[in-house]
Amino acid sequence: MHPDLDRIVLTEEEIQARIAELGDEIGRDYRDEPILLIAVLRGAALFVADLARCISSPVELDFMAVSSYGSSTKSSGVVRIIKDLDEGIENRHVLVVEDILDTGLTLKYLLKNLASRRPKSLEVCTLLSKQGKQRVPISCRYVGFEIPDEFVVGYGLDYSERYRNLPYIGVLKPTVYLD
Ligand code: IMP
Repeated sequence: MHPDLDRIVLTEEEIQARIAELGDEIGRDYRDEPILLIAVLRGAALFVADLARCISSPVELDFMAVSSYGSSTKSSGVVRIIKDLDEGIENRHVLVVEDILDTGLTLKYLLKNLASRRPKSLEVCTLLSKQGKQRVPISCRYVGFEIPDEFVVGYGLDYSERYRNLPYIGVLKPTVYLD
């Protein structure tokens, strides 16, 4: 375990096993229909790479980057698109891939924006969802894990751009925030 971590919340094996299940479920739902996976950078980059390889349906990939104003551990709800999609999504099956659903404010903004581009369908797959934290209702068709309301890092999730490369997800030691 990384020395800055207090404890591991999800091991590499647990994450990978759940992603395989999600991929199967997505493949069963969409069958031979092509899916456009839209990953929200940067946190979902690792997740989408593993998820895409577990889906049997034809998959295409595109990326969006958003920034949320405010401190690094709290979502402000004010979202700005830093990188938009490379292609149009009209009449395509879109599956937004997110790392974590916290307040839901980021996704709410993104979904409204994407819906206005008239996709054939628009669904969400999030690896993590924080229990009891959603300030706006978001319907996520695929949820990897419900986790308690704690700030987590690893497997794409960062604290000040660090720890994204850990293959597991864990909670930082309180001293790390104070440094
Ligand atoms: P929301 O708008 O509050 O749902 O926040 C969504 C975004 O905040 C995520 O995509 C993450 O980038 C970030 N975030 C929320 N909670 C965590 C966490 O526990 N660790 C790392 N990033 C987080």
